[in-house]
Amino acid sequence: MIVNKLKLFLIFCLIYPTLFFSADRPKNIIIMIGDGMGLNYVSASVLSDRNSPFIKFNSIGLLKTPSSNKLITDSAAGATAISTGYKVPNKAISNDTADKNYETIFAIAKKEGMSTGIVVTSSVTHATPAAFYANSKSRSEHDNIALQLTYADLNVAIGGGYKYFANSKKHGSRTDDKDLFESMKASGYEIALDYNSLVKIKSGKVLGLLGEDGLNPASKREYSLADLTKIGLKKLSSNPNGFILMVEGSQIDWAGHNNDTDYLLSEMKDFSEAVDLVLEFAKTDGKTLLVVTADHETGGMTITGGEKDGSNLSLSFATTGHTPELVGIFSFGPSQEKFSGIFENHIVGRKLIKLINPDFVFTGDE
Ligand SMILES: [Zn+2]
Repeated sequence: MIVNKLKLFLIFCLIYPTLFFSADRPKNIIIMIGDGMGLNYVSASVLSDRNSPFIKFNSIGLLKTPSSNKLITDSAAGATAISTGYKVPNKAISNDTADKNYETIFAIAKKEGMSTGIVVTSSVTHATPAAFYANSKSRSEHDNIALQLTYADLNVAIGGGYKYFANSKKHGSRTDDKDLFESMKASGYEIALDYNSLVKIKSGKVLGLLGEDGLNPASKREYSLADLTKIGLKKLSSNPNGFILMVEGSQIDWAGHNNDTDYLLSEMKDFSEAVDLVLEFAKTDGKTLLVVTADHETGGMTITGGEKDGSNLSLSFATTGHTPELVGIFSFGPSQEKFSGIFENHIVGRKLIKLINPDFVFTGDE
């Protein structure tokens, strides 16, 4: 009798933690990055829009963004911290530049049978998306990064960057004259070069390259980042093993570099609408963790005036480059509480990877 009770107790001890942690772990993870979206960008959204999605999060934190060699990071090192759990030098894509590649969260998710995807408004080979599926010493190696996309086996890749996949015959800019569209078709991709064709894709993996390089700014596009994200979510959510999706409001950063108020506010609105859409998806689904953050702040932007209701905001800028200001992290869904507090950006990557594979081992400081 005592032996049986002991056995039951031992079985309980073994099973209970598994039950506890698996209930806590999300099935799907969606990472949304507002490139350059400092805290004052979020302030502008909240002040000017009473339905701003940022007020709907209860789990909020702050991140320190320095890279491994600079106080002020670039997007390559900033994205790598989140996509690999390691800080690297500026310009490096999931690589420490001493020939050591870091495994990306997408590669780790693939091993668990999950689907992967990116939806961005820059080229799909730009620093932030590249860090999720490629390894390179330099973010400027677009040809090489595009080639890596052909075998990274993403289920969804939507953004710009046509010229990095096309050879000279197809008016591309590849220096090796390879036609990457052919190899991607052979690997089961349906390819769309405009929004109307993208909407019509029914089966297969999706490569949507809707611009030569970056997409048009939000104010000059007939579709929104939310529209593109909706297509990505529909495609990815059919996998019973779950998915990981990275959505980037890429041009928030470009508006910051240009110190352009109208451009900045319209890109923030475009990104906010996409956040709202994903938040609704996560609420309905109940098994999706959404993490919204930024890689760094751009422009040293501050709000110097505006109407009482938050309309007609006046923005001023301290620089045309990036700054080391802390950025916000907003999370919703299973394990959201892991992302509140103040920590280094690479810790976000480690926490996300551990949610996908709890046995994954990192080297170096926590
Ligand atoms: Zn930038």
